[in-house]
Formats: sequence, structure tokens, C-alpha cells
Amino acid sequence: MLAISIVVPLYNEEESLPELCAWIERVMDENQFTYEVIFVNDGSKDRSWQVLKSLAAQNPRIKAVSFSRNYGKSAALHVGFQKAQGSVVITMDADLQDSPDEIPELYRMITVEDYDLVSGWKQKRFDPLSKTIPTKLYNAAIKWMSGINLHDNNCGLKAYKLEVIKTIRLYGEMHRYIPVQANWNGFSRIGEKVVQHQARKYGTTKFGIERFLYGLLDLLSITFVQKFGKRPMHLFGSLGILSFLVGLFITLYLIGDKIYSISNHIPFRNITDNTWFYLALVAIIIGSQLFLAGFIGELLTMNSDRTTDYQIREEL
Ligand code: UDP
Ligand code: MG
Repeated sequence: MLAISIVVPLYNEEESLPELCAWIERVMDENQFTYEVIFVNDGSKDRSWQVLKSLAAQNPRIKAVSFSRNYGKSAALHVGFQKAQGSVVITMDADLQDSPDEIPELYRMITVEDYDLVSGWKQKRFDPLSKTIPTKLYNAAIKWMSGINLHDNNCGLKAYKLEVIKTIRLYGEMHRYIPVQANWNGFSRIGEKVVQHQARKYGTTKFGIERFLYGLLDLLSITFVQKFGKRPMHLFGSLGILSFLVGLFITLYLIGDKIYSISNHIPFRNITDNTWFYLALVAIIIGSQLFLAGFIGELLTMNSDRTTDYQIREEL
């Protein structure tokens, strides 16, 4: 059995690949690890695939899969995880921001200290404030919603036991919540290691500002689906009953009010004139309906195999 599988998702990273491969090979050879590197080309529009082909021709341990189009980082990791065979699986970004020098220690933490998962922590970051501040808020939200207390959930450099990654389903922005899923699946020995972080050497970041909105929505999904995925009725049923009771209570109040004013010959106090009250009521009802509609869609998505049905064009 191989000691290590390194899974590298990439989208338009042609300049970084030769350097990254050479670096990985050097570290693996120095430590005498048996290994494979699985590159997942996520529909790159540059020459990344040609570069990978020539690198794979030079080193038989390099494997590569190429998607028919850009599916996103989660999809790339998902397919890499399916292919991985090493007893320890390492994920890292292709852009040289993550250092292969960290691999031996990550490997030791999994095999000797028996962690299920070790997540990198980019303590000294080389990212703009526009990214580091939302990241802080994110980690706080993840901690609050899932109980997982990592400084840096989003670090691309992570290590896993093989059996852990085989239980994980990735789509959308779910790559940000792998520790959350692992923990939910019962792999709760989660560690953290401070790792070096380089500024991006070539190219630019592939994620825009929308990452925060999508990421937040996916965090809500994963939390709710984990809690209610198997018993949606517990959620829909209680909310439905609650909403029904509120409506019933207001109706009864209006009827009682009407009877009271008629029998006492005083003008009907008539809260029906309170337009704002009704607008607020309607907004709340519509809002919750929309949220629930999204949630039902999410349930269907998460439980369908189509979610992770990614088309592969070529494989080495
Ligand atoms: N990536 C990918 N598919 C995408 C976007 C990004 O495979 O649609 C890869 C990218 O090539 C890199 C990693 O995911 O290897 C992290 O992306 P990036 O460096 O742009 O993210 P950041 O470091 O800015 O969070
Ligand atoms: Mg990067």
C-alpha cells in the first residue's frame, strides 16, 4: 500500500506546476515515502493539461484527471478522493501557496499521533485584509454552528486517514467544510498544524467575493442537512405547526375583539387597519417559505448522486 496520496485541484495554474512537482518529488524522495500525486485539472483554459502530461511522462507516480469543464474546487477534490489509494491523503493547492515541506510532519501526526484529520493553519497569511477579515468571521460561524474549533478551516493543506475521505461528499463550496463533514461522520480526532503560507507566485486567485455568500449558504445547508437530513419532518412539521398556531391565535384575537366591540357597542378597534402589521406578517411568511423551498431543494441535492456526477474527459 502507498504511504501517501497527494491530491491537487487546479484551474489555470500552468506556471506553478513544474515547480510544484519538483518540490513534491524532492520532499518525498528525501523521506523515502511511497506516494502518488493525483492532479485534478478542473477544466483549465490555459496549458495546464499539456504541462501535466509531460510531467506525468517523466514520473510514473504522477496521475492526472481532466474534467470536461470547470466544476469547482470541491468537485476536483471529490474525484481526487475517489482515486486516492495512499493510507494518508494530503490535499494541497497548486499555486505554491502551500509548502510540500509540511507533508512529513502532517504524515507523522496522522500515523503516529493517530489523528483522523489534520488541518493546516496559515498563521502568518499573505492575503489581503478583504480576505482575512471575512475568514475570521467564517471560522467563528463554523465553530458556533458545528462545534469545530479550527483557526483556519479554509486552508487547502490538510491531511486525512484514507477511510475519512472516502466518507465525504463534496460539491458547491463544501470543500470549506470537510472537517465539519468528517466530524459528523464520526471522525472526530481533528488536529491543527501551523503551516507556512506563501504569497501567490503566478496567476491570480480563482475565487471572487461571491465565495463568502456561497460559502455562507453552504454552511447553513450543511448544518441543517446534518441536523434534519434524515428527518425533514421534524423541521418542516414543527415550523408548520408553529406558523399555523400563530395564524390561529391572531384570527381568534380578531374574532374575540369583534365580538367584544359589538356586544359593548363600542367601535371595533380594528387592528385590520394596521397595514404595517400585515405587511410584516406577509414578509415573514414569504421569507420562511422561500427558506424552506431552498432547504427542500438542498435535501434533494444532497441525497442525489447527480450532485457529484462530474464528467471526466481524459485520464493519465
Ligand atoms: N481551483 C480549482 N477550481 C476552481 C478554482 C480553484 O481547482 O474552480 C484550485 C486552484 O487552482 C488552486 C486551489 O483551487 O489550486 C485554490 O484556489 P486559489 O489559490 O485561487 O484560492 P485562494 O488561495 O485564493 O483561496
Ligand atoms: Mg491560492
